[in-house]
Amino acid sequence: MRVPPQRTNVTRLRFPARRAPSPTSNLPDAPMDTIKTHVTNSTEFLLDARRALHRIPELAFKETKTATYVADALLSLGLPVRTGIAGTGVMGLLETGRPGPTILLRADMDALPIQEATGLPFCSEHPGCMHACGHDAHMAILLATARVLTQMRNSLRGTVKFLFQPAEEYPGGAAPMIAEGVLENPAVNCCFGLHVWPSAPAGTVEVKPGPLMAAMDRFEVTITGRGGHAAKPHECVDALEVGTQAVGALQRIVSRQIDPIHPALLTVAVFRAGHAFNVIADTAQFGGTLRTFDTGVRSRWQERINQVVGGVCSAMGATHELQFTSGYPPVINDVAMTEAVRRAAEATVGAANVREATPTMGGEDMAYFLERVPGCFFFLGTGFDGCSMIHNPAFTVHEDALPCGVEIFCRIVHERLGISG
Ligand SMILES: [Zn+2]
Ligand SMILES: [Zn+2]
Repeated sequence: MRVPPQRTNVTRLRFPARRAPSPTSNLPDAPMDTIKTHVTNSTEFLLDARRALHRIPELAFKETKTATYVADALLSLGLPVRTGIAGTGVMGLLETGRPGPTILLRADMDALPIQEATGLPFCSEHPGCMHACGHDAHMAILLATARVLTQMRNSLRGTVKFLFQPAEEYPGGAAPMIAEGVLENPAVNCCFGLHVWPSAPAGTVEVKPGPLMAAMDRFEVTITGRGGHAAKPHECVDALEVGTQAVGALQRIVSRQIDPIHPALLTVAVFRAGHAFNVIADTAQFGGTLRTFDTGVRSRWQERINQVVGGVCSAMGATHELQFTSGYPPVINDVAMTEAVRRAAEATVGAANVREATPTMGGEDMAYFLERVPGCFFFLGTGFDGCSMIHNPAFTVHEDALPCGVEIFCRIVHERLGISG
């Protein structure tokens, strides 16, 4: 069992000397120093929160201990807190009392059904459950951001909503939280979120305008043939054989029927048929996932799958049923909001450490917020030599990178809500 580097035994990150603000930036110098100081002073609070939350991972919509921890931390900052939103969601509110825009900052709360194998001294106390996607870090970063902005509230106007949503992994907590009104009263003008990113080194940030993460839809097909003796195939309709033909034909949708300038992915991940060596299967079931960035391509998946599978079945004398489940929409970043993140990231880690993110076929339900209000979701580099990727039992983050996330959030808010004097 490997013990990954943590606060006590890592090489401290070295960041380049602070650059002068770029000509397009309206970030004044003095508040920058104040933000940096406040963030540094909140590091202990940040790491304590991350480690405490890492110990108590909980699955989707069961984040009760997590929600209590988050709500107590927000209350200790003197912020009004709403709990029980969409079950276990929590929202803290920083109201400055001065008119201005409302910014929503979002973190996700749920963990994964994975047995932790990091060997960390603060590893999961819940058998078979682990923060293997870094949502513990997301919550800790947002709590520390709330702490810093609360300390700086006299230099801010408007309102900041600190939103902690359940069930990002599956089936999604963003949409039900929106349905319960988190984007209203006051109405949210823009939103921001981040994901820790082990494939980017700690001390770097990846941002990208436009499509960043794919829409994820799901399909399941049941093929019905006619079973019988394995030695008499001519008297049967072999559902297994029809199913394999259908799977092969489905793979050609992406390569032959979708405009190659629109990235798309179809993966058949499950196939079940047959139960005995001398019996021809009367049914076959298979299913998988579809990923797309383009809404036009996405809207036609269901029809195309029906046509292709239906064509194969009718040629072979079988029938089929298709169950199609629409998942998260694509994550599309607003151009102006992405520039705001880029400016804040450059001021935090230096322009040389801010890179263009590569779009990923992974999905994220931050997409629901971004569908409704302009905003930006970005990747915070937390990788180190030999680190494991997300959803792996050995996954962990380079903790020294976490204050960068706090600083970026605070700078974004300060640029939009800061007042002089
Ligand atoms: Zn995940
Ligand atoms: Zn995640």
